[in-house]
Amino acid sequence: MSILKAKRKFKIPQQAILGPVIIVVFVALVMQANWTRRNQRLFRGMMSGLERLPCQYCRGTGTIMEEDEAERQTALHCPVCYGVGFRFIRRLDENDKLCPACGGMGRLQDPDTGHYRTCNRCDGRGLIQAPPGDRR
Ligand SMILES: [Zn+2]
Ligand SMILES: [Zn+2]
Repeated sequence: MSILKAKRKFKIPQQAILGPVIIVVFVALVMQANWTRRNQRLFRGMMSGLERLPCQYCRGTGTIMEEDEAERQTALHCPVCYGVGFRFIRRLDENDKLCPACGGMGRLQDPDTGHYRTCNRCDGRGLIQAPPGDRR
């Protein structure tokens, strides 16, 4: 009997806590919603000027097919976009042009080694500063 009593005693505070917990969770949810609304403008500001540039190398799929020695097709992560399929670029001003060397991806295949490396021309940024009227 003493064990049963102890169990019952233990249950009562648990149920008493449940109410306040629901309130706390609810308040937290409301606060989170307010926070999101307040930061939406900030977030939109951050997203403005961003351009989604599909990867030309994998045609935006993030995967390339490569044939091995046994002529089996294997799917590989795209070495240019790291399997993402696109990358974001952000133009700071009108003079920012897509890098002609890497097409804006910031990475390209080294003609000497065949390996993919960061583009030297734009330092991997994907954009270069070109004066107005300069058509390269
Ligand atoms: Zn790619
Ligand atoms: Zn480049």
